[in-house]
Amino acid sequence: MATGNINVSVENIFPLIKKFLYSDHEIFLRELISNATDATLKLKHLTNIGEASVEYGNPVIEIKVDKEGKKLHIIDQGIGMSADEIQKYINEVAFSGAEEFLEKYKDSAKDSGIIGHFGLGFYSAFMVAEKVEIISKSYKEDEKAAHWTCDGSPQYTIEEHDKTERGTEIILHIAEDSTEFLEDSRINELLVKYNKFMPIPIKFGTKEETLPLPEDAEEGAEAEKITVDNIINNPNPAWTKQPADLEDADYKSFYRELYPMQFEEPLFNIHLNVDYPFNLTGILYFPKLGNDMNMQKDRIQLYQNQVFVTDNVEGIVPEFLTMLKGVIDSPDIPLNVSRSYLQADGNVKKISSYITRKVADKLNSLFKNNREDFEAKWDDIKIVIEYGMLSEDKFFDKADKFALYPSVDGTYYTYEELYEKIKDAQTDKDDKTIILYASNKDQQHSYIEAAKEKGYEVLLLDSPIVSHLIQKLETSKENISFARVDADHIDNIIKKDSAQISKLSDEEKESLKTTLTEVVPADKYTVQLEAMDSNASPFMITQPEFMRRMKEMQQTGGGGMFGMGNFPEM
Ligand code: ADP
Ligand code: MG
Repeated sequence: MATGNINVSVENIFPLIKKFLYSDHEIFLRELISNATDATLKLKHLTNIGEASVEYGNPVIEIKVDKEGKKLHIIDQGIGMSADEIQKYINEVAFSGAEEFLEKYKDSAKDSGIIGHFGLGFYSAFMVAEKVEIISKSYKEDEKAAHWTCDGSPQYTIEEHDKTERGTEIILHIAEDSTEFLEDSRINELLVKYNKFMPIPIKFGTKEETLPLPEDAEEGAEAEKITVDNIINNPNPAWTKQPADLEDADYKSFYRELYPMQFEEPLFNIHLNVDYPFNLTGILYFPKLGNDMNMQKDRIQLYQNQVFVTDNVEGIVPEFLTMLKGVIDSPDIPLNVSRSYLQADGNVKKISSYITRKVADKLNSLFKNNREDFEAKWDDIKIVIEYGMLSEDKFFDKADKFALYPSVDGTYYTYEELYEKIKDAQTDKDDKTIILYASNKDQQHSYIEAAKEKGYEVLLLDSPIVSHLIQKLETSKENISFARVDADHIDNIIKKDSAQISKLSDEEKESLKTTLTEVVPADKYTVQLEAMDSNASPFMITQPEFMRRMKEMQQTGGGGMFGMGNFPEM
């Protein structure tokens, strides 16, 4: 038997990194700006704790496109690197200077917002560049600037450079197949997508700004225009602030910042803020949903230390909450792993149940503190709550106290209030309480009138998942049953009342019956000519509750919702 070492040659690894490191080539810019941000945050930290005696100032990160020279520049004013540091941090693939920094300054730097992790981000530059240069000058006075060049093969050169300002400039010589990244509009698109809320100002070109006219300006005077840096990001987005420092208007304006194309105001927001046992901040918004479950655009955005990662939060946020909008920022979500692994990750599970609990608590406090307002919003938020009740038992237990059941006349009951009201008056012969509901006020008008005439309470339950919710309630509550007003079930309560009197004479009944049996299939519907003392209609056609419900559930379940295969068990 022979043993040996598998020989990993760098020559072979580079093309692999280039091709497969990230599926999305465009993230190279996010990675390089993250490094520039880290370099600046490190300097900030070192000046804060007195380890660097330089002036921190107001550093910016600048992005420059040189279309003619086919180059893209990323320039920062951070800690910089000496030639030795470049050897150490850049030439060793998969060695993370960010992790080393966090390890070294463990206690003081844990909230510094440093982004890097795996020591691979820098090499994403080679996904779009045929050659990369680093020109860097360390913040340490006595270090000379260094110039590193590499064309994607494992060979590199390093030499002295005459750069005098502190910081790093990365120059990408954009490859033939990636010239899209020499277009201003494309770069701007990337900056807005990934870097809109990063913590250090990012400059991309300049823009004209019109100064306000002075108070004593003469009529017809021209306003003065000045050229200013075009800063593409907001370094202090609302979610990084304390809830106590924010007004309702701040939350609303942040919503517009997040979704500039969204003109509808959100109904309310939930500020997430936890640092133990995991780190998470964020703001979730309840949009006006109505009965619309398929909100594909403007989804919740996921950030890590203010860097945009994805707007696919599937597996991180419980499915029913993916209908909300807003941001979640957590360094503790292992995003480099597959989605199916995510669902099994302990941290992610804790995050998911924390978010569920916060949402339930917020809804409960809105309900308690201003019921009138909560009722007014109910139709716009019910779909999230009902879906949550179906899919998460813990949420069901909490929501059971504030979920509302509106009557056709616009009274909103909690389950308990409703049950108290009808438990004695609406029972069948087995003493089961029957909850009557309509799903469409117009179509079921005469049935509703007939039931009201009897003094029954009729709910209006019109959300697309109501048959699932009813099923859930019937199995979790004792001795109740739901019946739609046009279901034959309703007879059971009606019969308990008085004798049934028809408005029709015997002959009228006979002839109606003959006509109706010709058009109404007897195996699907029941024709009822008695007990119609409402003035609306002389007869009723009812359908077995069970049959109709099965059909509805087949339509909304199994694949109908979000295109997800499995509807929660009931
Ligand atoms: P990570 O950011 O995960 O640590 P990268 O591959 O993105 O890994 O970067 C490797 C290291 O190179 C960084 O940790 C940092 O020490 C150094 N580095 C990269 N870019 C810069 C920069 N602009 N200024 C200073 N140091 C940098
Ligand atoms: Mg990095």
